[in-house]
Amino acid sequence: MAQIWIGADTHRISFDRAFDLTSHTDGIWLTSTPVFEVLACPTCGSDVLMAIGTVVHLGDNCPFCKLVQRYSCDPRLQASFPKNGMATAPATTP
Ligand SMILES: [Zn+2]
Repeated sequence: MAQIWIGADTHRISFDRAFDLTSHTDGIWLTSTPVFEVLACPTCGSDVLMAIGTVVHLGDNCPFCKLVQRYSCDPRLQASFPKNGMATAPATTP
């Protein structure tokens, strides 16, 4: 089963939304055909949930690349993700 993990602890999603995303990613429960897939962004290396067939290149449609680009001018991002934590924290699995 695909693991749906959106951002850090401050960006949790409801169980119903996670169930729906998992169903449409794995093609189970609600649908027999997957419509989403997890792709690795070639720019930042993050796993990104995208519609099947989406081409991820140079971070132009990667939400994590956009967060990194906004980081220096967005106080909310700076408060949520301390710079040292962003640079050194390894990816975690819930
Ligand atoms: Zn990226």
